[in-house]
Amino acid sequence: MAVDITTDLNVVRNIGIMAHIDAGKTTTTERILFYTGISYKIGEVHDGAAVMDWMEQEQERGITITSAATTCWWKDHQINIIDTPGHVDFTAEVERSLRVLDGSVAVFDGVAGVEPQTMTVWRQANKYSVPRMCFVNKLDRTGADFFRCVDMMVERLNSTPLVLQLPIGAESDFLGVVDLVGMRALTWRGETTMGEDYTVEEIPAELAEQAAEYREKLLETLSEADDDVMEKYLEGEEFTVAELETAIRRATLADKLNPVLCGTAFKNKGVQPLLDAVVKYLPSPLDVDAIVGHKPGDEETEIKRKPSDDEPFSGLAYKIAADPHLGKLTYVRVYSGVLEAGSTVVNSVNGRKERIGKVYQMHANKREEIASVGAGQIVAVMGLKDTKTGHTLCDSNNQVVLESMTFPAPVIEVA
Ligand code: GDP
Repeated sequence: MAVDITTDLNVVRNIGIMAHIDAGKTTTTERILFYTGISYKIGEVHDGAAVMDWMEQEQERGITITSAATTCWWKDHQINIIDTPGHVDFTAEVERSLRVLDGSVAVFDGVAGVEPQTMTVWRQANKYSVPRMCFVNKLDRTGADFFRCVDMMVERLNSTPLVLQLPIGAESDFLGVVDLVGMRALTWRGETTMGEDYTVEEIPAELAEQAAEYREKLLETLSEADDDVMEKYLEGEEFTVAELETAIRRATLADKLNPVLCGTAFKNKGVQPLLDAVVKYLPSPLDVDAIVGHKPGDEETEIKRKPSDDEPFSGLAYKIAADPHLGKLTYVRVYSGVLEAGSTVVNSVNGRKERIGKVYQMHANKREEIASVGAGQIVAVMGLKDTKTGHTLCDSNNQVVLESMTFPAPVIEVA
């Protein structure tokens, strides 16, 4: 049965995961889906056994659990993970996916640090001011160096890393992280299960000095990005966790700095706090006031559409994929208004009418047919005939062409 998807947009996160090949994008994504994919609806509770069954089933059937967009739920938030190709050859495709996401997580190999493909995608993301967090992965590997990787973020990406965590232990003795916002230690000791799979402890005595030093750095960096924090910092006042989180979110959304977390996706030491941080610090569709487009055939006349169901429908087709069961699927980000299955819309780029066949929300382990979907969501549409990636679909009485991207993207020299 088809359902209506009406979700409070405040709880939606449209994110991409970007990385140099082999840094661990797939493993991190799979870890995220492992913890979230099963409980795809608010309130559902599953035990560890159910999760394992699902993982085994997926493996047996050989289903790839990443698609052009996968929806999952984490602590009452809907996270739509948009696939971002990691290869430089797919530059245009990277740009298209950057266009439809609201925020991103860059995954780094803790041994290799900042690698060329990440530099390229990072600079493309700069172009759209995409708010970004960093996850330094593979800290269990021999030769992993979190601090070197953070230094490389400054040197090679020209970014402002805001270190939110410090590693506890290294390589095969990597145990967990110091959370510099809560000033506590999160350690992983047992096997992975669903939910909060770590123990909250006091910061180990041998790391107390380093934690105090990095907490000070965190406050300094944050105060440079945020006047309210600066004022309080200069007065020498204490910050509550909530105040810091609000300020970090504000500065991240303004693309002034990049929160940095660390861990290993391999053994899931760090992925759950990463999900918490996605929810806390990356934007919802409502954090963008409006999408700017223009009148069809008239690039001078600007049209703005707010992320609201009350606006006329507009959406961007960003990827066409072949599904083994459903055939051709067009992935669409809805920017404004409501997209209804069975309705007719117009492709404002080529002027053709398109009938919207079935509409699906894609989950890791299932797809859900939906009757209508509101602004801010990402869905797969079946039945489109003349729509290509980059085309705008909209209400025929209120036409708009959403800002076109320039292709090919500029070639960026990497050192
Ligand atoms: P992608 O190319 O970025 O998608 O990278 P993958 O997720 O496929 O990972 C590349 C390789 O690194 C695979 O062999 C993974 O098993 C391994 N890997 C991923 N994350 C970790 C990690 O945290 N620690 C270790 N030791 N290996 C990892």
